[in-house]
Amino acid sequence: MIDPSFVFTLLFTGLLMLGLLTKFYLATRQIRHVARHRNQVPAAFASTISLPSHQKAADYTIAKTRLGMLEMAFAAALLMGWTLLGGIDTLNQALMRSGLADYGALVPQLALLAAFGLVSGLLDLPFTLYKTFRLEERFGFNQMTLKLWLADLVKSTIVGTVIGLPIVALILWLMGSAGTLWWLWTWVAWMGFNLLVLVLFPTVIAPLFNKFKPLDDEALKARVTALMQRCGFAAKGLFVMDGSRRSAHANAYFTGFGAAKRVVFYDTLLKQLNPAEVDAVLAHELGHFKHKHIIKRIGVMFAMSLVGFALLGWLSTQVWFYTGLGVRPNLTGSNDALALLLFLMVVPLFSFFISPLMALSSRRHEFEADAYAISQTDGGDLQSALLKLYQDNASTLTPDPVFVKFYYSHPPASERLGRMAPMTPSPESAAA
Ligand SMILES: [Zn+2]
Repeated sequence: MIDPSFVFTLLFTGLLMLGLLTKFYLATRQIRHVARHRNQVPAAFASTISLPSHQKAADYTIAKTRLGMLEMAFAAALLMGWTLLGGIDTLNQALMRSGLADYGALVPQLALLAAFGLVSGLLDLPFTLYKTFRLEERFGFNQMTLKLWLADLVKSTIVGTVIGLPIVALILWLMGSAGTLWWLWTWVAWMGFNLLVLVLFPTVIAPLFNKFKPLDDEALKARVTALMQRCGFAAKGLFVMDGSRRSAHANAYFTGFGAAKRVVFYDTLLKQLNPAEVDAVLAHELGHFKHKHIIKRIGVMFAMSLVGFALLGWLSTQVWFYTGLGVRPNLTGSNDALALLLFLMVVPLFSFFISPLMALSSRRHEFEADAYAISQTDGGDLQSALLKLYQDNASTLTPDPVFVKFYYSHPPASERLGRMAPMTPSPESAAA
């Protein structure tokens, strides 16, 4: 008889390798494609984008993709280290021997997840540091000081613990005491928690990291309010966020639910765009609301996590699920934390292969939001706003079409602008 544990080990290793090879293949394609088009601005943008800024975008894209490859290789090695090479098993055995179980069944389990989180977080620090103070710095995007970076790290660790520990404890408790249908109750609890975070984020969490001031530019305020009235949209307030404290990248977003909705502009966005362009960007965001994209995305997330919890419910009772990943299940005491941890590590190996579907749906939503914006504001303003944002964020105009299909949640500039107006179609938009 074939050992199911061995079959699972093979499946896990195979998927890990296949995923890594696919990611490397895509990244190499992207780097080559961008490098090949580095020395010429695409025809459709020849009059609007200068060669130096086109080259800056190319260099930035290549540098980011290269660092991404290093991160992928490191993540794969780390996953192997945690699982088949015995990392989690060693950690778990040490905690089981430590006598923490005397304080209650939940304590060693929470300790396992906390220790895992701590070690993973520490191993991730060099990458975050390099990204912020080397890569982003080199291209002039970083505005952070080391002091602010450290303050952020401390704050986010505290916030993560204060919010994360209770929900993880609740999940483990439900897993252990809610009977055979625990996965259903856990799902309900998890969804409730997600909604709570969505409600708390704009008013409680975000202000811990950034300052939010009411928009005080009266002319812009009048303009934006008129747009929102035209679109039948009620928001609690218009805010400006000091995004420039950390990065030169610009953005605008909506948060909150129902009557508590607020519009947030990064100060960097207001600096880069004129009022008509800000209006057009806001109309695009309103388009996402009109087409119910956010609700749809939350619905998909709810459905997928239900499938996830049901799957976890089954896997956690299979011995091969643990042994196949190099972990000895506990003979006394609970295996819930182990199951949860292993599940969270394995899921991305599978979900990576459906990510192109998610990206496709997201790009469709962007086109719909653009179409809505054009129906409400001047199309020319949205075009010039997008062009400025693509340029200021150093997004490449010439991404590899296959890379785009896999990863891009937003259509590349050529496709997006190409749909808006009778511009000269570039070879890029024809290819993608
Ligand atoms: Zn959008």
